[in-house]
Amino acid sequence: MNHHQIVIVGGGTAGITVAARLKNADPSLDIAIIEPSEKHYYQPLWTLVGGGMFKPEESGRNEADLIPYGVHWIRKRVAVFAPSANTVTTDDGEAIGYDYLVVAPGIQVNWDQVKGLKEAVGKEGVCSNYSINTVASTWKFIRELRQGVALFTQPAGAVKCGGAPQKICYLAEDHFRRTGVRDNIEVIFTLAGPRLFAVDRYREVLERVCQRKGVEPRYRHNLVEVRSASKEAIYRHMDTDEELIIPYDMIHVTPPMSAPDFVSQSELAGEAGWVEVDKHTLQHTRFANVYALGDASSLPTSKTGAAIRKQAPVLAANLLGAMKQQPALASYDGYTSCPVVTGYDSLVLAEFDYSGQPAETFPFDQAQERFSMFLLKKFGLPAMYWHGMLKGRV
Ligand SMILES: Cc1cc2nc3c(=O)[nH]c(=O)nc-3n(C[C@H](O)[C@H](O)[C@H](O)COP(=O)(O)OP(=O)(O)OC[C@H]3O[C@@H](n4cnc5c(N)ncnc54)[C@H](O)[C@@H]3O)c2cc1C
Repeated sequence: MNHHQIVIVGGGTAGITVAARLKNADPSLDIAIIEPSEKHYYQPLWTLVGGGMFKPEESGRNEADLIPYGVHWIRKRVAVFAPSANTVTTDDGEAIGYDYLVVAPGIQVNWDQVKGLKEAVGKEGVCSNYSINTVASTWKFIRELRQGVALFTQPAGAVKCGGAPQKICYLAEDHFRRTGVRDNIEVIFTLAGPRLFAVDRYREVLERVCQRKGVEPRYRHNLVEVRSASKEAIYRHMDTDEELIIPYDMIHVTPPMSAPDFVSQSELAGEAGWVEVDKHTLQHTRFANVYALGDASSLPTSKTGAAIRKQAPVLAANLLGAMKQQPALASYDGYTSCPVVTGYDSLVLAEFDYSGQPAETFPFDQAQERFSMFLLKKFGLPAMYWHGMLKGRV
């Protein structure tokens, strides 16, 4: 049986960053990443791709160029975890053994949980930033709209980067204004939740942004069906269960998401399906040689790459400590960041921890919309991602 000292499941943001941190700390480690994809995408750029600022292909790099030097790449998909036997099994039936396991396969986008969406997305005004295959359609339909209703949705439950469904709405509104068609378009942002943002400091700013832009938020609206032939969005009201119909001319859908099925069906999962880890040490609550981080983990913070930047060094330190029989000393405080783009030249950089307290980087009020922070998102953060974070340096 193939065996490695450390096996990492998922070579995305979290898997690559952790592998790089571990290799930097000890180049002699025998590490394997199990990852089926040939390309890795910097998903935060998809907001700007949807807003017409970048081409989809500019968000991707070859996986082969990102896997740290000396790390084995197993180009397969994991199907089954057997943590009691210290093995994972890939979808071709191969069992791979490990001393330590890091689980980082990301979140699952459930396109088929909205009736009609899978067939419609990418066509006739239905678009989504949540896949490399559909993100170009967002810019196409924003650009083509001259009049009517532009609808933007956010589902119930966790999604990648909780602020991202709003960002594309604000970009679209700004585009309509800049091209002189804003007065002919009604912009509606529907969300299943009761609030625009979890942290009050930023929520208040975003409510003012909506007001200023004339974007109408409709709360407790959960999208259940897209009828593309009649251009109708069908919702269930989260409190009353009433059916609500909103006709649209273009609709940007944020699909429901969940833990990947092979995770939620495994012994590693907690009740909600995510890999159940201690929220500070990132070590599994029942299997001591298993760790998790990123979108697939149970960490009760918003699911962002920025959070992973702070989780990865904690996980690496605790795993390396465990190899030397030391206790887990490094602790993650729940830091996450959400750069909420509010237009083509403005952004609110929300940064906070588990307690919802701001954990801001810069010495000025980050709850204000700023051009400088927009430039950070457009140019600074992608450079930091490719050259710093994925190399295990920042
Ligand atoms: C539109 C959009 C906007 C966003 N905006 C921001 C932002 O502004 N700031 C921010 O910080 N974050 C943002 N994010 C979120 C950020 O991209 C994710 O939180 C981050 O990529 C999660 O990293 P991950 O490693 O957990 O998952 P991913 O990077 O998605 O990687 C998971 C990897 O696991 C692999 N995998 C899946 N199943 C298996 C399997 N069975 N076996 C082996 N491998 C498997 C996949 O192929 C993939 O490569 C945004 C995301 C989107 C979609």
